[in-house]
Amino acid sequence: MSLPDSTHLPVVLDRLRRPLRDLRISVTDRCNFRCTYCMPAGVFGENYRFLPRKDVLRFEEIERLVQLIVKQGARKLRITGGEPLVRAELPTLLRALARIPNVEDLALTTNGYLLSEQAKDLKAAGLQRLTISLDSLDSDTFAKLNGRGYALQRVLQGIQSAENAGYRQIKINAVIQRGVNEPDVLALAEYFRGTGHILRFIEFMDVGTMNDWKPRDVVGGDEILHTLSEHWPLEPIDPNYRGEVATRYQYADGAGEIGLIRSVTAPFCGDCTRARLSADGRLVTCLFAQSGLDLKTPLRDGISDAKLEAMLRGFWSERHDRYSEERASLHEERLKSGRIEMFEIGG
Ligand code: SF4
Repeated sequence: MSLPDSTHLPVVLDRLRRPLRDLRISVTDRCNFRCTYCMPAGVFGENYRFLPRKDVLRFEEIERLVQLIVKQGARKLRITGGEPLVRAELPTLLRALARIPNVEDLALTTNGYLLSEQAKDLKAAGLQRLTISLDSLDSDTFAKLNGRGYALQRVLQGIQSAENAGYRQIKINAVIQRGVNEPDVLALAEYFRGTGHILRFIEFMDVGTMNDWKPRDVVGGDEILHTLSEHWPLEPIDPNYRGEVATRYQYADGAGEIGLIRSVTAPFCGDCTRARLSADGRLVTCLFAQSGLDLKTPLRDGISDAKLEAMLRGFWSERHDRYSEERASLHEERLKSGRIEMFEIGG
């Protein structure tokens, strides 16, 4: 039985009538950092077994799956990891993804440590936007937070290289943890004011199962906003599109924009249009999901595009994730029970 070509089918909606608009593509589970809130060095030491190469999707497999997911409505692609810049030949994949019809946006999230060497080639391959994770401007705090004692300077040079390469937009993401890097709220704001880069503060989240998250360690978005407003008046600005994760503000003196990503204190599941493709080919419908749909096995078993599309539509249409909105009411065991680790599906 030949299944209909989904190009003519309506955009697939989940059970909360949310379309699939954003696809985050994890190209590797490996990372050169050991950030304490994602991949603590104590757990992910030298002997930790990451995915064997044979289990990682090949570029042509990623391209085929992305083409089919774009046919279901995805328009914004974000390359993630682990740390995507540790995957070899990444420009080859970017060129292929940039050619897919209806892809409106191609972005990448990185810790910036390898960016100086790669910023130009990634841009030439079609990458449009960059998000760089930077949690501290204090060398000691930065070295501690990345779990490897790596130097802050390399990341600042990476940001400079990205500027020189002329990316359409550069965002800086900082996860703020109580008692760890609160002073960086002002330091980062001071540093990026007037640069044109968009600084976003992310509330510390209970992603994965390893970061020993406690609600008391969360510095809420309102608290961050208050701290900043005491120094620089800020005005709220409208979201760019439905489902944008950050609430946006601009400095009244024209020094640019900041964002607050409040997954804990003001969850935004109602407009969540994000799916994630793990490096080993699982489609995951929530950052806090416990499992995903295995696409790699049927793909390597020779399944047809039409059957794969039917699987994708069926899986998304059954989706009803809203973990962050439910977090406060969830039982202890659900809060503790096995979640896919963030480095497997990208933040
Ligand atoms: S918790 Fe899940 S459903 Fe809610 S916004 Fe995050 S990824 Fe989306």
